[in-house]
Amino acid sequence: MGERSVVELAESLAKGKHGHYVRGVCFISKEPVKEYIELPSYDDVVKSHDKFIEMFGIFYDNNDPVSGRGLYQKQDTRYLIHNPPALYLTQAELDKVYSLPFELDAHPLHKKEGEIRALNTIRFSITSHRGCYGECNFCSIAVHQGRRVRWRSEDSIVNEAKRFVSHPEFKGIISDIGGPTANMYGFECSVKEKSGPCTDKRCLYPDVCDALVPNHKGQMNILKRVSQIKGVKKVFVASGIRHDLVLEDRKYGDSYLKQIVENHTSGQMKLAPEHTEDEVLALMGKPKIDLLLKFREKFFRYTKNAGKKQFLTYYFIAAHPGSTIKHMRRMKEFINKNLKIVPEQVQIFTPLPLTWSSVMYATGKNPFTMEKLFVEKNRNTRELQKKIITENYPNKPAKSKRYRFK
Ligand code: SF4
Repeated sequence: MGERSVVELAESLAKGKHGHYVRGVCFISKEPVKEYIELPSYDDVVKSHDKFIEMFGIFYDNNDPVSGRGLYQKQDTRYLIHNPPALYLTQAELDKVYSLPFELDAHPLHKKEGEIRALNTIRFSITSHRGCYGECNFCSIAVHQGRRVRWRSEDSIVNEAKRFVSHPEFKGIISDIGGPTANMYGFECSVKEKSGPCTDKRCLYPDVCDALVPNHKGQMNILKRVSQIKGVKKVFVASGIRHDLVLEDRKYGDSYLKQIVENHTSGQMKLAPEHTEDEVLALMGKPKIDLLLKFREKFFRYTKNAGKKQFLTYYFIAAHPGSTIKHMRRMKEFINKNLKIVPEQVQIFTPLPLTWSSVMYATGKNPFTMEKLFVEKNRNTRELQKKIITENYPNKPAKSKRYRFK
């Protein structure tokens, strides 16, 4: 996503200039930039959790090209200057980037090292859009791709699929058409275009904002058009789907889900509820679990009507800040009762840079209320949180030492 900054920087360096004015660039300077916002200094942030939270909050609120301002932070005797984010590519520019003659292959240097299995997943997949306003607190996409979704034209996507057909390795299967969240293609809230994303509320949490009107028509059209290309046998949607957006789309939500179930699911659809307990979901910025059950009911109804055998798989996170053994046991009960599976896709929370959840992990505080927050850091207990969910034992944990936790 750095296309614009990279080209501008290269051009200015070629002219013998330093490129310090290029948006999206950071550099070290002896002087601060007066019109930028000052962040708490590096020394303060290292010493104080509250300053760290303050720094991250300012950074987070200034990452949209429309509303984001430049930032600076005192390091030692110098300043780290953080220019405002690069302007997003227009649709025409995005289309142009994706029309370039990519090789759809690994770099020869890496190819020599043997098979690259990840290549099979991405080689014939299509990026339809960039950005995500899901703002899950453990994910950094809202920061590095931005909270405003920008999408390619339908023709650009269809043309990319047509180019696949003449590739010698193409077997007729397009493994994915999507983006950070598959079903954010083709609609956005008009507020962001003029003033950037709101800083006092979120687009999808705790509920879908009234200003956002989900509309899946665009993605449905693309999937149909690409499926009709001669030489394309199957088109899948493998990127995650936000089930709350599907349910909120009163006009096309049901027909979208039917279309996905009937034509674009490769046996199992992946959903990411991440947890089931309200306290933890709130810390994750995820919707309440009852929506998942509504979606699940529809998915299996449409699957049955289509005469198919398809499943849902669910991603869950163990040991997210705020999550305790008690929460995990309640989650296990919920899964046993309502989802009737033993989940395999459970990851132990990993604190990633640029995320609110990492701020919680590092500070032991809820950064939105500044209250103290339980964070499980003991390696064994973090593992145990996962085991409670993944092990197939009847409703109650076995009476072994391993599970004797209060
Ligand atoms: S108005 Fe709603 S949908 Fe639009 S940016 Fe603000 S929170 Fe998001």
